[in-house]
Amino acid sequence: MSLPLRAAIVSTLLPLFAGQALAQATPPSEVALYKLANDNNFFLYYANKTMKWEVPADPIRIVGPLYFVGTEGLGVFLFATSEGLILMNTGMPSSGPMIVDSIRKLGFRPEDIKILVNAHAHIDHAGALAVMKRLTGAQLAVMKDDVAAMESGDRNDFKYGNDLAYEGVKVDRVLRDGDTVRLGEVLLTAYNTPGHTRGATTWIANIMADGKAYVVAFPDGAGFNPGYRLAKNPSYPGISDDYRNTLHALEMVKPDIWLAEHNEYCDFRGKRQRAETEGMAAWIDPEGYRRFVAGKRRAFEDQVDTELGASGAAK
Ligand SMILES: [Zn+2]
Repeated sequence: MSLPLRAAIVSTLLPLFAGQALAQATPPSEVALYKLANDNNFFLYYANKTMKWEVPADPIRIVGPLYFVGTEGLGVFLFATSEGLILMNTGMPSSGPMIVDSIRKLGFRPEDIKILVNAHAHIDHAGALAVMKRLTGAQLAVMKDDVAAMESGDRNDFKYGNDLAYEGVKVDRVLRDGDTVRLGEVLLTAYNTPGHTRGATTWIANIMADGKAYVVAFPDGAGFNPGYRLAKNPSYPGISDDYRNTLHALEMVKPDIWLAEHNEYCDFRGKRQRAETEGMAAWIDPEGYRRFVAGKRRAFEDQVDTELGASGAAK
């Protein structure tokens, strides 16, 4: 493997695995790095195991109507309103029963889910949407440019082809940038933040807790996986412009609280632990959000430089 190629793969991996338990474990070998970028089945297996996508976690209340019902690695969220429940994301295809258990443990009825929303149409977030929809009859609202992927179960993915496919699910409402989803006292606004997928969606929730209003952000779209091409032979035409627009949009958001479809992004585990003694204050983290987005921008610019630099070195 040439040095520039190796550098490119390492730089795409760092944002993926930075700040996780894996960082303390043995780092992936050069062969593993190459395989992560080029072998989709290995990528899925490796990411699932190291990032604990299917390891059960206890559900908790975060703040006001917002609850966590995800796994150790994946963020799945529940909004409990006077008119029913909203479920945001699912997880891997196997996670349906675990999400149902978590919802029941919190004292809610999965049958009361009225609306399903999602971050983006990859298997680790949309994998159990079909199961949850069958169980609840809830309406699924999805950003326009992820609708085809969601309904086909991510067939013909620009990076993964059919390798990360899951059971497709019918979309009931097609969202456009800036559309809102409202149920009871909870208002969600959907922003199309493409790059990671074309219809990747950043959700902004306006919620009330203890008589105070909070803005909760669920940023999405700015991350790229091993093997994504941003500048040279791009994974899809216009992908780098999409990332730039997405980074700009995320930089404009000023949340009080932020969460993510991957728990390690926002130090979910650390915050949840601190919340046991500090209460709601542990979740307030506007500065952490700013750092997260700055890190995404740095990773993007480094990757573009590496891809373009690699072409220069080849001359
Ligand atoms: Zn993804």
